[in-house]
Amino acid sequence: MKYDAIILGSGLGGLECAFILAKSGMNVCVLEKNAALGGCLQSFRRGSDEYDTGFHYVGALGKGQILERIFSHFGLMDLPWHRLDEDGFDQVIFKDRSYLLANGYSRFAGSLSAIFPKCGAELENYVSFLEKVGKGIAEPIFRESGGFDSLNELFEKSAYAYLCQNIGNPLLRNILSGASLKLELRKSTLPLYTFAQINSSFIQSAWRLKGRGSLIADTLAEGIRKMGGTVLTNATVTSLEEKDGNITGAKILHKGSTESLSADLFVSDLSPQLTLDLLKESPNIRPVFRRRINRLEQTCGFFTVNIKLKEGRIPYLNRNIYCYSPDLESVWDLTGSKVRGVLISQQVPQSGAFASQMDILTPMDFSEVEPWKDTVPLRRGEEYLAFKAEKAEECIRMAEEIFPNLKESIQAYYTSTPLTYRDYTGAVRGTAYGIRKDCNNLTQTLLTPKTPFANLYFTGQNLNLHGILGVSLTSLLTCSEILGKEPVVPFLE
Ligand SMILES: Cc1cc2nc3c(=O)[nH]c(=O)nc-3n(C[C@H](O)[C@H](O)[C@H](O)COP(=O)(O)OP(=O)(O)OC[C@H]3O[C@@H](n4cnc5c(N)ncnc54)[C@H](O)[C@@H]3O)c2cc1C
Repeated sequence: MKYDAIILGSGLGGLECAFILAKSGMNVCVLEKNAALGGCLQSFRRGSDEYDTGFHYVGALGKGQILERIFSHFGLMDLPWHRLDEDGFDQVIFKDRSYLLANGYSRFAGSLSAIFPKCGAELENYVSFLEKVGKGIAEPIFRESGGFDSLNELFEKSAYAYLCQNIGNPLLRNILSGASLKLELRKSTLPLYTFAQINSSFIQSAWRLKGRGSLIADTLAEGIRKMGGTVLTNATVTSLEEKDGNITGAKILHKGSTESLSADLFVSDLSPQLTLDLLKESPNIRPVFRRRINRLEQTCGFFTVNIKLKEGRIPYLNRNIYCYSPDLESVWDLTGSKVRGVLISQQVPQSGAFASQMDILTPMDFSEVEPWKDTVPLRRGEEYLAFKAEKAEECIRMAEEIFPNLKESIQAYYTSTPLTYRDYTGAVRGTAYGIRKDCNNLTQTLLTPKTPFANLYFTGQNLNLHGILGVSLTSLLTCSEILGKEPVVPFLE
């Protein structure tokens, strides 16, 4: 069977690219190694309950906002979206005090100005900067300035330096950065664009799904199939074949047997490192390019505790909570093996005022699970189980600051580490947000969709931006490289 396009990996980026290419009339085939679609968006089942992995909430899904415009073209706006509290979609608990972050640029600034009255002007400037960044978000696709000389100008600036220069009060700097476990707060590398874009989208509006996160992947796959496309699960791409400088086929292991599929075009949602590994002997990949890709650093991973709660014990809170240990001086210093900051998120209950599930997440560097790097899932040994149990206890203890009866309200819990992500989604070193973009070394760390092969493209969170919005924009960027702008721009309208 020959396809017009083969898409490697069914993460959000892969599925969105397949959808756009199918819509443009191509006969597409998505190849996913796992039984479940969605990569970081997949949910897992324990008993009758489903738990989310890499999806908790999204921003900018209000009418006319950027993700709403994009998602409506993918048929994703019919999903049961649930808006978080506009007066406090995020709550930051820092130095034992609680701060609510409100939706709307001026409301966001106004509610914090009430707590930091001397910082009103700085807050106004901060939100108008974020608003400007939000408005220029489609710039890489339109190639328009968006009010900035170029997007790279913002990628090349340090987010931490920007905050230090523009926000005088160190406590306020912590609060403005405090809901940022959804990116990697790293003083020396984090680009201002990443920080501003993500925070800007959530200030516009913040949403959860009233249901499992994998609904997103399932809906996209259904759309692709309706347009005549093929979506294969349990189909691991083991190598890519090439001829005369073009990729010609993908060798796959599908349900135990080896097959070869050919196509004119290939899009890889796998990390660039894994993609190059599929082309081990290729004379078309210069060693210097391969070395550059393989040396790229990865953002941190996450340790997650997915908790099933006893009925009627813990009230549902329609916001996310970012809680930091009182001895932490800066939310930008969350390194080390001790749990000092957690994100607490609950699933929207189907009915009633109590939560049935709660997720607690804390950043985790791969070095913490390095001793078990040669093991496989479910066979990592007793020490690994003990390590995870201890970590889970630390996370639960921190969450008890907000929910004092949490421990006795737990019916069961399940944990995952960067090793889980490495083995299920192929994330290099279990990274949560892909390649670490370095504002001081942009030319090396910010990749484009282009590869050494004219008919092979990259997509997904390893390029420009991570997260649901970032990956969606990158899908549009990848497809505009392939199809030209014309068929892609309508996805932004
Ligand atoms: C713990 C965590 C929490 C997060 N929370 C949020 C959130 O609340 N909001 C938000 O916006 N973002 C969140 N994110 C980020 C978001 O989930 C990701 O940025 C996004 O889903 C990544 O999509 P992707 O397409 O780049 O890649 P991935 O999801 O990594 O998909 C890659 C796919 O390729 C497949 N694959 C790998 N190798 C092969 C092979 N050889 N053959 C076939 N298939 C293969 C994998 O199985 C996988 O399905 C979170 C991430 C994590 C880890």
